[in-house]
Amino acid sequence: MINVLFAATEARWSEYEAPLTAAFADRDLAVDLRTDFAPDAFAPEEVDYIIYAPNSDVQDFTPYTRCKAVLNLWAGVEAIVGNQTLTQPLCRMVDHGLTRGMVEWVTGHALRHHLHIDHFLAHQDGDWEGAKLIPPLAEERPVTVLGLGELGTACAQSLAQMGFPVTGWSRTQKDIEGLTCLSGTDGLAKALSNAQILVLLLPLTEETTDLLDATRLGQLPEGAVILNPGRGPLIVDDALLAALDSGHLRHATLDVFREEPLPAAHPFWSHPKVTVCPHIASETRPLTASRIIADNVARGEAGQDFLFEVDRSQGY
Ligand code: NDP
Repeated sequence: MINVLFAATEARWSEYEAPLTAAFADRDLAVDLRTDFAPDAFAPEEVDYIIYAPNSDVQDFTPYTRCKAVLNLWAGVEAIVGNQTLTQPLCRMVDHGLTRGMVEWVTGHALRHHLHIDHFLAHQDGDWEGAKLIPPLAEERPVTVLGLGELGTACAQSLAQMGFPVTGWSRTQKDIEGLTCLSGTDGLAKALSNAQILVLLLPLTEETTDLLDATRLGQLPEGAVILNPGRGPLIVDDALLAALDSGHLRHATLDVFREEPLPAAHPFWSHPKVTVCPHIASETRPLTASRIIADNVARGEAGQDFLFEVDRSQGY
């Protein structure tokens, strides 16, 4: 029997219990699946795998001596990757539902700004000529995606398929058909310099924190729009507000924030050039994510490498 501990909230458990049970059964895995909050929870030394969400009560992994892997329910691992007690392999979530949800969110918000949809909503006033504004073709609107991982690449490719000239930037140099791929500091300056729409899909690490400061925001062309579904601290808030107030940037659509929930008094809520989304760009979908988790447990039992193992030295 494989002992799997679900270390997340009760609400999350109610979403995952049935799909996880089904996914383990489909793979013929004899699993005892329990939560960390129920009275019959396992003793830590009995646990073979931990399914983990960052707001879990499990913070000290030292007693989980038998645990073969911690399987994170989220794509982002910044809340756990630096935990010094975690010596077990850490896997992050890469899942079809998460990727497709992000593609839909990014392309939808990019098209909102590309087609000037806000302008037409603001001109429902009977003035036909006053409402006229012809958007350029997508092929005339360069887009840059920072981060060419699972999500960034899928979003960049979808935008490129619509006709946008897409530049992507990553830590290591990539070669992806249909995209201009850049890396390094000079590559970043180049990627920013013509980005009329900038999409942030970087993980939060020491290197990416405060990446978009006043200098880098200043490298964007006049009238650029930012979409940030990555992580809040990628952007320096005050620098962003200053760039919006000065008219240098046209709009920022933000899904993630330094503090979440975003405090009610935060200036982003009331800023006319900011759209606030409450971290909903893309959710881990229990049905597809459960299959990934079952795959990883099956791999662990077969002595194979885990899928989507985090590189602890890089922090993502
Ligand atoms: P990946 O790990 O697959 O990709 C990360 C990308 O960022 C890689 O291309 C990587 O480069 C690049 N990168 C990392 N560090 C640097 C750096 N210092 N300089 C330049 N590039 C860097 O992550 P995902 O695509 O799966 O997810 C990205 C992020 O999206 C997550 O970490 C999370 O923060 C966020 N997210 C947000 C959600 C939401 O609902 N708002 C939902 C899911 C995720 P390389 O390829 O060279 O390694």
